Amino acid sequence: MKIAVLPGDGIGTEIVAEAVKVLKVLELPLELEHAPVGGAAYEISGHPLPEATLKLALGADAVLFGAVGDWKYDKLDRPLRPEQAILGLRKHLGLFANFRPAICYSQLTHASSLKPELVAGLDILIIRELTGDIYFGQPRGRRTAVDGHFPGSEEAFDTMRYSRPEIERIAHVAFQAARKRGKKVTSVDKANVLETFQFWKDVVTEVHTQHYQDVELEHMYVDNAAMQLVKAPKKFDVVFTGNMFGDILSDEAAMLTGSIGMLPSASLNERNQGLYEPSHGSAPDIAGKGVANPLATILSAAMMLRFSLGQEQAAQRIEAAVQQVLTDGLRTGDIYSEGTQRVGTREMGDAVVAALKRQG
Ligand code: NAD
Repeated sequence: MKIAVLPGDGIGTEIVAEAVKVLKVLELPLELEHAPVGGAAYEISGHPLPEATLKLALGADAVLFGAVGDWKYDKLDRPLRPEQAILGLRKHLGLFANFRPAICYSQLTHASSLKPELVAGLDILIIRELTGDIYFGQPRGRRTAVDGHFPGSEEAFDTMRYSRPEIERIAHVAFQAARKRGKKVTSVDKANVLETFQFWKDVVTEVHTQHYQDVELEHMYVDNAAMQLVKAPKKFDVVFTGNMFGDILSDEAAMLTGSIGMLPSASLNERNQGLYEPSHGSAPDIAGKGVANPLATILSAAMMLRFSLGQEQAAQRIEAAVQQVLTDGLRTGDIYSEGTQRVGTREMGDAVVAALKRQG
């Protein structure tokens, strides 16, 4: 099983090193090959996603990704900025399904900004369509308005669109994921205003009626979903939506759990080839200090074993080891509270490795 390891920038190198340590202790037949990406690749080759890195990713069963970006690259032309590497990988690998679990560990309930009783035991999964919607729809651009409120003035526009196959394939992903969990899907749309999302709602309903009557389906407008996520988040099981709404709701759901340093993510294509990365960025403010929380990346490696490599048992072992270190009271700065033991990135990784070894 071949894994492309792309640590990237900032804390990316520190947190990926810990995930690699954890993978190695499992003694699985994994071939790990590293390559530069993002700003690190730009420094070496003049491009954030060099040909060799892309080739490695395309040929691997899975990609373990750290994070890319640094403020110092903000003045570069857009195609050369580190963040373009992740967009390029999504496009070339056809990663249309993004999974973001939001789990509130009982040990960290107090870290959420919501009341403990609202988030204790929270375990929801956000599934976001990743390659369509207004983010990729054409045409887009700037022009002189021919109509609207101010004809003749400068305006900008984007195009929101979804085709039937795009909606069908992500709907199948969502219903199948729900079958393995709480058997409930909330499809989030804005069908009351947008044609694209009336179509979304119609197609999702068809897929449900034809194939997934054993799963409960509810439809919810995105504004209500944003409200319900902070009012009663435990009502949800699988929340499934388009690219833009998913972008916003998945960050909202992330914060329910307290720290973005705990949240893994997976992006999959039709062949179950996937890119696995923490939900956070490269955190330039703490890079190089050895204080970043590596658990989101370690949990992303667990998702990689589960979804792309068919190693469910190994995935569960990692998740249990993470639970164990939290129970033992170890905390990086982002999840620290009085009475717990503050540790750095490497110590946290070492503790997960030790917990895995103790499992026997
Ligand atoms: P960020 O997620 O990097 O950081 C936000 C805050 O969370 C910071 O205070 C940071 O210190 C903290 N944080 C993040 N991860 C942490 C961890 N593992 N442990 C402890 N604290 C953690 O977001 P940002 O500051 O808005 O962006 C920084 C850079 O990352 C930008 O260049 C941005 O474009 C890039 N970015 C990359 C990705 C990606 O690679 N997929 C995603 C988001 C942002």
